[in-house]
Amino acid sequence: MSPEDRVPSVSVKTIGCRLNQAESAGIMAAFRAAGYGTVLPGDEADVCVVHTCAVTANAERKCVQFARSIKRRNPETFLVLAGCAVEVSHDRLRRDTGADLLAGQADKSRLPELVAANPNRHFPLPPRPSPPTPLPFFSTTRALVKVQDGCDFNCSYCVVPRARGNPVSRPVPEVLDEVRGLAAEGFKEVVLTGANLGCYRSSGRGIVDLLAAVEQVAGIHRIRLSSIEVSTAEREILDYMSGSEKLCRYLHIPLQSGSSTVLQRMARRYTPDHFRRLVEFAQTRVPRLGLGTDLIVGFPGEEETDFEQTMAIVTELPFSNLHVFPYSKRAQTPAARMPGQVPERTRKERVAQLVELGEHKKQTFAERLIGHPVSVLIEEQLPDGSFAGWTGEYLRARARGPDITTGDLVGLVPSAVVAGILE
Ligand code: SF4
Repeated sequence: MSPEDRVPSVSVKTIGCRLNQAESAGIMAAFRAAGYGTVLPGDEADVCVVHTCAVTANAERKCVQFARSIKRRNPETFLVLAGCAVEVSHDRLRRDTGADLLAGQADKSRLPELVAANPNRHFPLPPRPSPPTPLPFFSTTRALVKVQDGCDFNCSYCVVPRARGNPVSRPVPEVLDEVRGLAAEGFKEVVLTGANLGCYRSSGRGIVDLLAAVEQVAGIHRIRLSSIEVSTAEREILDYMSGSEKLCRYLHIPLQSGSSTVLQRMARRYTPDHFRRLVEFAQTRVPRLGLGTDLIVGFPGEEETDFEQTMAIVTELPFSNLHVFPYSKRAQTPAARMPGQVPERTRKERVAQLVELGEHKKQTFAERLIGHPVSVLIEEQLPDGSFAGWTGEYLRARARGPDITTGDLVGLVPSAVVAGILE
């Protein structure tokens, strides 16, 4: 093989949310279609893409650290930074990482073309025609599908509207084509993702219409939603879920705070009481619903009494999964200029309290499922010979049996919860 015939390689490291992960699959697919070989993130490659996140200062720091470590280990790598952090911190990222190419949201879909045209590229382009190499999949059972992007809610702490722009939805037929392709590749579960999924709207069709269409795709046995904002389509989704064969009994609905004054300053569109009523409704429509939420701790002006209200509502409601974040100041957001920034130590202490409460809530929820049939999508075999996967309610579960293999959807009536895992 002459050097010109060598197939160049690409790796894509994803930092951040499920939307980023879904888009990374698209970035990989574009490179494969251009004739590149794909390797795992962190492995040596001709092109290393770091798909960045800007939602917290910590996420951005991680992107910079990872990018620098790549250049340190392999200075010849063509380093690409793409995505949200490029939109909000372009100049700083270029200075701090020595990246060869920075691509914002609009350019993410044409990275192979931009790499080819870049004067910093010193490796030969793929010979054509060249068969695409297989993707290094991490899960062969569950795939992320981006159906929507952007948000115009403008919560006062959030950079997403600036990084991703106004809401845009993919047409239903386009989503269905992708889902059919994933079913043909053997995926059993699709996770529909978006920056603000409840705002999905295409040719007059909303998220529930999309769910109904995806439910018809043969070979897909489970559908999951990544996250839903209150005041979008949450009640319609719960109604739909109550009669659906395939939509998982799990919803992730960000609460952020249990204090109405903090929610107001966050510019969220609901009060704690509104949230409570929604959860009551959810429980009547979908008994034993798995319920996840996001919480931001130490938002500017959060007093001890505000935090106590957060602890109280989390204790009261049947959450099964908490994502707790210390407030992170993002330049050019209204919250960054608010008085009463909470000291880091206090933020850390409050995070620790909520994380501990979250562990307790998860255990309590898992125990509620004992004796009730659940389905488990098997993802891996464990060293002891048993098989582990996720229930529709998004709990880890373990099953045993001579005929089980990875990718099976198996029924289980749990009799115990061992170290947080249903058995
Ligand atoms: Fe950000 Fe608020 Fe939109 Fe969520 S709903 S992406 S927190 S602006």
